[in-house]
Amino acid sequence: MIYLDHNATTRPAPSVVQAMLQMMSATWANASSQHGPGQDAKRALAVARAHVARVLGCKPAELIFTSGATESNQLALRGLLAAADPKRRRVLLGSVEHAAHLRLARTLADSGLQVELLPVLGSGALDLAAAAARIGADVALVSLMAANNETGVLMPTREVGVLARAAGARMHVDATQLIGKLPFDFASCAADAVSLSAHKFQGPKGVGALLLRQGTAFVTQTPGSQERGRRGGTENLPAIVGMAAALDLLGNVALTARRVAQLRDALEAGLLRLVPDTHIWGRTQARLPGTSYLRFGHLSADVVLQRLEQLGVAASSGAACSSAGSQPSHVLGAMGVADDEALAALRLSLGPDSTRAEVDELLAQLPPLLAPLLHEETTTSSTWSQ
Ligand code: PMP
Repeated sequence: MIYLDHNATTRPAPSVVQAMLQMMSATWANASSQHGPGQDAKRALAVARAHVARVLGCKPAELIFTSGATESNQLALRGLLAAADPKRRRVLLGSVEHAAHLRLARTLADSGLQVELLPVLGSGALDLAAAAARIGADVALVSLMAANNETGVLMPTREVGVLARAAGARMHVDATQLIGKLPFDFASCAADAVSLSAHKFQGPKGVGALLLRQGTAFVTQTPGSQERGRRGGTENLPAIVGMAAALDLLGNVALTARRVAQLRDALEAGLLRLVPDTHIWGRTQARLPGTSYLRFGHLSADVVLQRLEQLGVAASSGAACSSAGSQPSHVLGAMGVADDEALAALRLSLGPDSTRAEVDELLAQLPPLLAPLLHEETTTSSTWSQ
């Protein structure tokens, strides 16, 4: 199988699986228990916390382990808003945030807050001028993703964070797609809270973290004694240790990013050369190294995915959480892309385990499979919207 869906999830690394098995079989006690095995678990948790904190550039006390980025995002928004000045009634969110995050935004709007979506340009980049114009003294919170999961386009979280915090608002960044793929350092980023998820960087699913800057006013949403009272519930030690092991493997992130970007660029150059009418979104922008979001003419993504499946290639039409519904992507919608084009969108996302041989194989096999379909399309349709 050629796996080109790294933005959906990644294969847990063997050392991650090993570390988790070790915890599950030997260090399975409750880290809050006072007995010996409990204290062993507590020590293992402290070691993992120190390790994760060091790699992410935060203090151990700033790290709240969660069940993944969906929970981290919820915890951040609800926890920060519950502690915000009640006179600040506006919340600003990127219009291309993760679907679950936008659903949360609707719930917040239903609760009486004024939620506004920050627009993106046709390139997929945030409209920074429009965002800046909206940030004012009545804004409680700005939440912006570091990199989009579909286009891979990087968002100006630093610029927006500086503006938001200068206006007295809190800044939350969903860095789920960025952490593990590009260098990240919490100490130097302009955010009060940052979400991440281990399964995006060869860690296990169902574990992640919210980094919460020391001194930030925050009201817990799941009371309990764990995580310094900020997130209750018995810690998932095997998964947390698995996340620490995955961060261990990252090594020189910038170097890996360059290699993955070269593979992605070779794939895109080959497709542009071999498949007529290939269109790639976000290509003019700074992007995640392995992400390519494209369409072949107006060929339906479902049809192309079937052909890819035949070739043993795993890819997707966009975010895994929404691709099952065959709805046009809200990200492309926000970029002003028409529905018929959006339904042709295909996301190929490479990762650190992708190889040149895989790219070459895809470039050798896919174009001949698409050629008759594209030919049929051009002879039967002349009315596609531009
Ligand atoms: N935010 C972004 C940008 C994502 O890509 C994802 C995963 N698709 C999430 C949040 C949710 O992460 P998790 O699966 O850990 O809940």
